[in-house]
Amino acid sequence: MVERTRYMLDEDKIPRAWYNISADLPVPQAPPLHPGTHQPLTPDDLAPLFPMALIMQEVATEREIEIPGPVRAAYAQYRPSPLVRAHRLEKALDTPAHIYYKYEGLSSAGSHKPNTAIAQAFYNKQEGIKRIATETGAGQWGSALAHAGAIFGLEVKVYMVRASYDQKPYRRLMMETYGASVVASPSMETESGRAILAEHPDSPGSLGMAISEAVEDTMKRDDTHYSLGSVLNHVLLHQTVIGEESILQMEMAGEEPDVIIACAGGGSNFGGIAFPWLGRTFRGGRKYQIIAVEPLAAPSLTRGKYMYDYGDTAKLAPVAKMYTLGHDFVPEPIHAGGLRYHGMSPQVSLLKHHGFIEARSVHQVPCFEAGVQFARTEGIIPAPESTHAIRVAVDEALAAKKSGEKKVILFNLSGHGLFDLTSYQRYLSGQLEDYEYPAKEVAEALSHAG
Ligand SMILES: *Cc1c(COP(=O)(O)O)cnc(C)c1O
Repeated sequence: MVERTRYMLDEDKIPRAWYNISADLPVPQAPPLHPGTHQPLTPDDLAPLFPMALIMQEVATEREIEIPGPVRAAYAQYRPSPLVRAHRLEKALDTPAHIYYKYEGLSSAGSHKPNTAIAQAFYNKQEGIKRIATETGAGQWGSALAHAGAIFGLEVKVYMVRASYDQKPYRRLMMETYGASVVASPSMETESGRAILAEHPDSPGSLGMAISEAVEDTMKRDDTHYSLGSVLNHVLLHQTVIGEESILQMEMAGEEPDVIIACAGGGSNFGGIAFPWLGRTFRGGRKYQIIAVEPLAAPSLTRGKYMYDYGDTAKLAPVAKMYTLGHDFVPEPIHAGGLRYHGMSPQVSLLKHHGFIEARSVHQVPCFEAGVQFARTEGIIPAPESTHAIRVAVDEALAAKKSGEKKVILFNLSGHGLFDLTSYQRYLSGQLEDYEYPAKEVAEALSHAG
């Protein structure tokens, strides 16, 4: 008999509502502050940046927020996404653990990012906006928004972190093929970009810098809004389709996860898979072990400070209470570009601070080692970001082997790595290096955070 491998849902099982964890949070979220006045932000402060529908989602307290018809229709191209039991990986590890992964790599961009890009483009179009400016680290967010813009007829301008712009020409070409215009950040097109280049002409860029440029671009034009691919409440909200589907699929499998794992850059795919499960716990259900995995080169949750800090380098973006390494901390150019951010989602930070979730940080070489083992067993070449989740899933499965425990592990495979083969080339030829945890730079950046 063949053991069941894939748990598929019909199209009519695409969730009808996003799950809003604000309805169930045991501790209220600290309000975000205006970067100039340091007073709590009002919806009017945010109106130049975002459509009102998203601003209201940012502060919404109802548990379920209906997914608009055109968004569900666009989701239908790649959702519900599959849940897969990793039989061959389990066998290779010789573990009694059962390993399941939710695979978000079948979307246009090849990651979970379209789950929010489609929703954000829809609400902007509805409000009469013509153009969206954004930043992208590894290029995944830029390509997701470029396609979402094409779906709803919006112009898209992308400030792409210099290190990725140079390492990943195919991501840039993908965005341009979808119709977006792309510039390397820091760029000469904005004041904040020019200021950084004047001081550091060879700057590899960072998400913090690229956010500054995209926000400045937005502020200078009436027809333009800004869009962020992670960190904010409404982004994590849109990603909860992942977790909602995974609950139905684990039911089909007849199991409940003991451990739930995802990588965390700004926290959106982590929140996406974890929040619907956490919500069940908060409403009186059982507790799950939930682990966010981040790179040791940018370890906000495990080595940062929980405090108010700016979301970007130029201090144009809102100030939020979160785990931060300091807004001017520039992480090493590790290959998981999507995880190079100084801060973390305020909701994920709050949950970590109060002990509802755990965090671990890992070096990139062992992550690639787990990623290659995954590719050789399951056939999917994971995004470098996703290898962080795989590393910890493998570690948990090996721990279960030692203790003989029949643990059920669920992790989010946030995307594929087919545009990241240069990173795999470096790993396979033994050239990939681990960066020491930059304790001195973090201490320095934290001394002027907030
Ligand atoms: C962007 C990205 C991440 C990191 O972002 P989060 O908001 O933390 O999810 C992780 N994996 C992939 C494949 C990405 O594209």
